[in-house]
Amino acid sequence: MPDARLSLAREVDREFFARELESFVPDRVFDAHAHLWLAEAVDWPAAPFPARVGIAEHQQLCEDLHPGRRTAGYFLPGFSAAHKDLIPASNEWLAQQVATRSDCRGAFFVQPGDDPDWVQAEVRRLKLHALKCYHTMAASPSTWEAEVDEFLPEPLVRLADQEGWCITLHLVRSRAVADPKNIDWITRTCRRFPNMRLILAHSARGFQPAHNLAGLPHLAGLDNLYFDTSANCEPIAHQAIIRTFGHERLLYGSDLPVSHFRGRAVGIGDSFVWLDESSPVWGDKHAQVSPVLVGLEHLRSLKWACWSERLGDAAVEDIFWNNAARLFGVAARE
Ligand SMILES: [Zn+2]
Repeated sequence: MPDARLSLAREVDREFFARELESFVPDRVFDAHAHLWLAEAVDWPAAPFPARVGIAEHQQLCEDLHPGRRTAGYFLPGFSAAHKDLIPASNEWLAQQVATRSDCRGAFFVQPGDDPDWVQAEVRRLKLHALKCYHTMAASPSTWEAEVDEFLPEPLVRLADQEGWCITLHLVRSRAVADPKNIDWITRTCRRFPNMRLILAHSARGFQPAHNLAGLPHLAGLDNLYFDTSANCEPIAHQAIIRTFGHERLLYGSDLPVSHFRGRAVGIGDSFVWLDESSPVWGDKHAQVSPVLVGLEHLRSLKWACWSERLGDAAVEDIFWNNAARLFGVAARE
């Protein structure tokens, strides 16, 4: 790659990849959860990213996570509840980017008040393939406890069903997929709208994998339920999905920009905490720890899950490419 390549990797990241991941990550990587964004439209830090992150920037940043691999993706717009007025521009930016690549797909960001007829016309005009929603758009004062209906109303799910779209859903509520209201919503909705494919982000947001062990058995048998692994660094969270649904339902995802923060989420108690570079934990009695990129920690957790579930190379290639290619209708030779 030319020297001008956008890169946030340090020596510690390159060593980590060579030691832990080089022999694991397949030649082709379909990133099934990555954001493309305009800096003014999002609430994550602008630095160290460029003002506009499109597919070219995604490709370059993927070199920090899986160098030398062919990369395609399913992209989600950047968004912020504080800049709702910029959501249309974010959707436009994403669509322009996705239009340049026959092997990439994109989601349209919806707000709960959106008129389904307008959404249908917009998604068709922009030639997108899915819907993305987020809890911060719910009206309730504490959206971390929002029920799915509050930020993804049924008329939008019905539209996705009519059109055969996917929906990427980041569960909230403290116990995520173990929460009875979430279990009820997922079960009811997947059964009523079988032509809609639901993707539960972050391995069902099982940052505390005990929630996956408790909740996923209630969802077994739903044929239109998928999971992206993005940003989840807990092997058991991925394993619970593989064991309950089979590895064909699991899609690799980076969650760029989260992949390029440094640290990881750690399950603890009945919840989890995020450790980032500013957390006061890296100098301890025994060692000085240099945290690596979240995306690398994430990949290692997926490696451990695949190893522990005794998956062969073909199954790993499914998780990194074939499952998403099938789901999104990306032809083998594109
Ligand atoms: Zn995300």
